[in-house]
Amino acid sequence: MRTAVVVGAGLGGLAVAGALARSGWQVTVLERADRVRPEPTAVVLWPNGVRALHALGLGAGLDAIATALPDGGVRRPDGHWLVQPRPTPADRMPVVVHREDLHDALIAGLGERVELRTGVAVDTVRVRSGERPAVGAGRHLVEADLVVAADGTDSAVRRQLAPEAAVVSSGSASWRAVIPWYRAPRLAVDQPLGGEVLGAGYRFVAASLGERGSSGASRRGGIYWVATAAGAPRPEPPETQLALLKRWYAGWPAPVGELLDATEPDDLVQQEVRELRPLPRAYGFPAGPGGVVLLGDAAHAMPPHLGQGACLAFEDAATLSSLLRESRLPDAVQAYDRLRRPRAATVVRQTRRMSAVLQARGRLALRARDAALGTINPRLLSSAAASAAQWRPPTQTP
Ligand SMILES: Cc1cc2nc3c(=O)[nH]c(=O)nc-3n(C[C@H](O)[C@H](O)[C@H](O)COP(=O)(O)OP(=O)(O)OC[C@H]3O[C@@H](n4cnc5c(N)ncnc54)[C@H](O)[C@@H]3O)c2cc1C
Repeated sequence: MRTAVVVGAGLGGLAVAGALARSGWQVTVLERADRVRPEPTAVVLWPNGVRALHALGLGAGLDAIATALPDGGVRRPDGHWLVQPRPTPADRMPVVVHREDLHDALIAGLGERVELRTGVAVDTVRVRSGERPAVGAGRHLVEADLVVAADGTDSAVRRQLAPEAAVVSSGSASWRAVIPWYRAPRLAVDQPLGGEVLGAGYRFVAASLGERGSSGASRRGGIYWVATAAGAPRPEPPETQLALLKRWYAGWPAPVGELLDATEPDDLVQQEVRELRPLPRAYGFPAGPGGVVLLGDAAHAMPPHLGQGACLAFEDAATLSSLLRESRLPDAVQAYDRLRRPRAATVVRQTRRMSAVLQARGRLALRARDAALGTINPRLLSSAAASAAQWRPPTQTP
């Protein structure tokens, strides 16, 4: 039986571990944290992410927890529409999912062939021709036919194999929260969720997780919001961070104020927005018998402006497991590298163009942005949405 070590039990690591196990591999997942615990926030999955989860055999689980996210347009902080909401064709409609629900679905898909070891921080990797790849954690060495590095933005494996890829700050911080339905404000019908409000260096996006009072869609329903602000993360306690958010977003159109008022300090998840610049020169490092691959944020951490990080991690997992079913081990590693690098580079390029739009500051830059946004944003978003909608795993068999 072929064996794999997956480093990291985030969304990408759990997705690929389950997929390999379902294809008959014996999988060991090594996770640094003492407990595998998802963030209490949500994630938007574009059609490519949804299709990848279906290809991984997790479609039914996803359908039970996902809520459709219609286009809500883009407004300025004064309420002026920069981009009016447009009807979204069904094949381009993203969905929003609570991360804890998604995590549960991925854990349920692991099966019995996956051994999950927590409290194990991988610090070395071995890639030598003629020898099976291995990772080291302290004095322990774990060898397998394939190593999948899914250890996130600060990947220890990538630092060793692709040291040219540096982790840099994108110049902004983000705050996210899910307000459970019992505390969520009752919004007027003309206060759209699913839309975004865009100011100078500031952005606010909100989405419904399921419907108030329904036991359907998400088991952990409520209203999810994400605020992004230029600058560094704040060192103050959550109470002060929430007060700052209320000050920064004061006067923004409904429902921004209502959502911040309904948020409690403990709901807040603050994070520095970081990315890899440049991207690693390779995603596959062949060795005997297979080698090492980079997957998810370890391979292509990017700002969340297009909501593609987790979607690409699921694409990586679906691509790798499909290639491993179709090809010999070292060939699959090389094919993975060939397929995934250009794909990730395209999405990262689109995300960086979006970053430039979002970070426009100063009166002239803002005026130019607002004038251009009516054309740039729909074009940029529709080219991103089109490339998201068009992605297919190498073969469609689950
Ligand atoms: C504000 C924000 C909003 C976002 N919104 C979206 C969205 O709407 N849609 C979307 O698709 N994406 C979104 N993303 C991106 C998405 O969250 C990430 O791309 C995705 O979670 C990456 O998953 P991963 O498994 O690759 O990495 P991670 O989730 O970082 O998991 C890595 C795992 O590896 C473990 N680990 C790290 N180092 C070691 C080690 N040395 N040894 C062992 N284990 C280790 C970590 O503990 C962790 O469990 C967003 C990101 C942010 C910051």
